[in-house]
Amino acid sequence: MTNHATILELSTEALQHNFNFFKARLKPQTKILGVVKAFAYGSEAIAIAKHLEKIGASYLAVAYVKEALSLRNAGINLPILILHPQINQYEFIVKYKLEPNIYSQRSLDAFIDLANQKKLSNYPIHIKFNTGLNRLGFDVAQVEAVFNQVNKHDSVMVASVFSHLAASEDLSEKEFTQSQIQSFKKVISQCEKQLIYKPIFHLLNTSGVINYNEAQFDMVRIGIGLYGFGNDDKITAQLKLVGVLKSKISQIHHLKAGDSVGYNRAYFAKADLTTATIPIGHADGISRQLGNGKGYVYINNQKAFIVGNVCMDMLMVNVTNIDCAEGDVVLVFKNQQHIEDLAQIQGSIPYELLTAISQRVDRIIS
Ligand SMILES: *Cc1c(COP(=O)(O)O)cnc(C)c1O
Repeated sequence: MTNHATILELSTEALQHNFNFFKARLKPQTKILGVVKAFAYGSEAIAIAKHLEKIGASYLAVAYVKEALSLRNAGINLPILILHPQINQYEFIVKYKLEPNIYSQRSLDAFIDLANQKKLSNYPIHIKFNTGLNRLGFDVAQVEAVFNQVNKHDSVMVASVFSHLAASEDLSEKEFTQSQIQSFKKVISQCEKQLIYKPIFHLLNTSGVINYNEAQFDMVRIGIGLYGFGNDDKITAQLKLVGVLKSKISQIHHLKAGDSVGYNRAYFAKADLTTATIPIGHADGISRQLGNGKGYVYINNQKAFIVGNVCMDMLMVNVTNIDCAEGDVVLVFKNQQHIEDLAQIQGSIPYELLTAISQRVDRIIS
């Protein structure tokens, strides 16, 4: 049952197009890890992950263990890297054959303890180094000590070694990014000296692939690009939007000058005004910052601006000059340019608008 006139229409064809776009920019042997954290950037993690498995992704990644359990329960067998596991969930990691990011001495000690206790053998772990983002990761000065410690325990093996760029989309930070790449290369050469086997090395996210293709190493981690955004207008124009957010006009009102619209009587009609009420609100992920004439939807190919405040479950738009009727389709997120424009209006980025689409909105997969 779909409870709502509001749906997020997901296109696996668009996903495949975007996947192939990035694949074509990589060496044939470079693996692709599909990032499906946060419900696959606000879309539908199981459907997206299943399709990525089908079209040749080598790895998946989510932020938290809980996100991976639903993928495993849905029968997805690809290796899943947990980017930000919590130590008290290591039991589940092992039980569901998930692969932890090990990013600190505390996390390394705890995972090795558990792996030894459970008598595991060569359990895959992923070691992350901090090359400048200063978020998660061992200091690069710890490289030798980390691999020494890992080498002492047969219970674990290093499946990959990775780092994350801080400003891969920002070409004015090229010098800083190059210093991160150099620092990661040093980590690699130390690792190659110490380990008798070869782990996967990976550094790049979506905009890394676009701007620093030469640093692709063995694998790249693509998130936002799979969903249609390249963090660059020219690239985005060549990608397809995976999720189109649609709704339907619930009711049309004809107001007179002086009438008010919505909560707090935030808007007063200056002249005759026709509004359409749309069943999507801030509880569905439409920011209140888009209210009061700032944000807009598309109705019959025309922009209809939000009138008054965005409510929890609804918003009203100005359709005075738009030929439309109750039941007509409303495009709340029509294309990438629309999402980028709304993001800019509310002082945000497409990542935040996509991941804000709440679980109440029905996902339809085509
Ligand atoms: C989220 C994330 C990514 C994906 O980044 P995009 O910019 O969406 O491609 C890659 N690596 C890490 C460590 C992440 O947290």
